[in-house]
Order: sequence, then structure tokens, then C-alpha cells
Amino acid sequence: MMPKINLLPLSQDGLAKILEREKVLFVNMQRSGGEKGVLVMTWIPTDGRPLSDEAMAMAKKNFMTASENLSLFHRMRMLAAYDELTGLYNRRVGKTRLNEEISRSQRRGSPLCAAMLDLDHFKAVNDTFGHQAGDRVLRHVCRVFRECLRAEDILIRYGGEEILAVMPGTELEDARDILERLRESVAEEPLNHKGRCIPVTVSAGAAKLHEAEDGPNDAGSLVALADRRLYMAKQKGRNQVVCFDLE
Ligand code: GH3
Ligand code: MG
Ligand code: MG
Repeated sequence: MMPKINLLPLSQDGLAKILEREKVLFVNMQRSGGEKGVLVMTWIPTDGRPLSDEAMAMAKKNFMTASENLSLFHRMRMLAAYDELTGLYNRRVGKTRLNEEISRSQRRGSPLCAAMLDLDHFKAVNDTFGHQAGDRVLRHVCRVFRECLRAEDILIRYGGEEILAVMPGTELEDARDILERLRESVAEEPLNHKGRCIPVTVSAGAAKLHEAEDGPNDAGSLVALADRRLYMAKQKGRNQVVCFDLE
């Protein structure tokens, strides 16, 4: 028989709640990275016999250990999934997420676009202002990217200063508008570093999954086409967005 669990307000410490002397419920809601909650719940039926204080203390200790382990596990998983400098997905986890989104889009028959973004003349930024300033520029630009995209869009640090944006449910024309806005925002918001203004621009190439009969049909070909169009944007003079093949 499934145990019947009544939802009751948590105790002040949010950890242990004696429902009745015969049943004990431990609940712990933890926040990792301000995003996901982790629920650890232990329910101990006691066959109608009151739980001794020692048994209660032992159960609580075990619960605390389990909940600390889970918290540690989540912290480790966060560290393994995100790039330290930018806070974006690292390439390994990003590729998995891209494949998941591609499968979902194919299942639903919904569009999906990917864009490769690259900072213009970033080497010169490092050479002129120093590597530390370069790091700040990269973080700043990634923040602008995040602000310009929707919550469901995914940002991946693909290479050094190459960022892949995955935009589920987005047609190429809409991706172009979004990327244009993003490009303008970056150009309009130079970083102030120790009293010096560091101007920065970004180029982007975008492609849509299955955009033509012989168009990209998997992660590899989608990223390759976006990358080729990024190269075209660079060739055209940088600070540009290219979403279609040029003549
Ligand atoms: P282009 O407009 O053609 O993209 O020119 P670029 O100078 O940006 O391109 P290039 O590939 O020659 O140089 C990329 C530079 O990005 C070189 C590398 O030192 C720098 N870079 C890559 N990752 C980081 C990083 O995490 N921090 C800093 N500060 N620089 C980085
Ligand atoms: Mg660059
Ligand atoms: Mg580059």
C-alpha cells in the first residue's frame, strides 16, 4: 500500500517534521545556482509504534548526510556543466543540449536555428588592454547575449571567444532580427575597464535545421553551416549578421 502523505507546513529549519509520533517526514528544499530546487524526502513509517528519541536522532543524522551528499553532487554537476568564465554551458554539455533540442524540434516539427557568434578583433583587445580586460569583455558580451535572448534559448561557449546560440522554435527571419538586435546592443555597450572604454563588436552566422532539402539535418551540419556564414560575416567586414548564403 502506498503511504499517504499529507502536505504540512515545514518546520522552521525546513528539515524535520514529526507528522505524528508514528510517522516522521524529513523534507529539505535546497537551491543550487538559484535555479533548480532539490527535494530530499524521507518518510519513515513506524508500524504504529512511537519512535524512540535515539531512532529519531539517527534518522535525522542519516537524512542530513543524504541531503548534504545531494547538494554536493549538484554543485559538482554545475561545475562540470558550465564554463567558469562566462557561466554559459561548456562545449561538452552544450553539444548534448543541442542534440536534445534537435530531437525535440524534429519530433514536434518545429523550427530550430543555431547561430555562431564571434568577437571581432578580440586578439587586439587582449594585446591593447591586457588579458584580464579581455576576460571582462568576454563576460560582458555574454551577459548582453543572455539579455537579448529568450529564456529557452541556449548559449554555449563553443571555443575561446566563439559562442553558439541555439534558438528552438525560431524561424531564420526571426533569428536574424534577434541577432541584429544583439549585434547592435553589443556595439552600443562598450565596457568601461579601469576608466577606459573598450569598444567591441560581434559577428554572427546563423542557420536553420532542415532549411532546404539538402540543408543541415543534424548538429554537425547545422553548426558547420552557421560557422560558414560567420566566416562570410567576417569577410564582409565584421560587425555583421549573415543568415543566408551569399552570392
Ligand atoms: P576575428 O575578428 O577574425 O575573429 O579576429 P580575432 O582577433 O577575434 O580572432 P583570433 O582567432 O585571431 O583571436 C581570438 C583571440 O581570442 C585569441 C585568444 O587569445 C583570445 N581568447 C580566446 N579565449 C579567451 C579568453 O578566455 N580570454 C581572453 N582574454 N582572450 C581569449
Ligand atoms: Mg574573433
Ligand atoms: Mg574566434
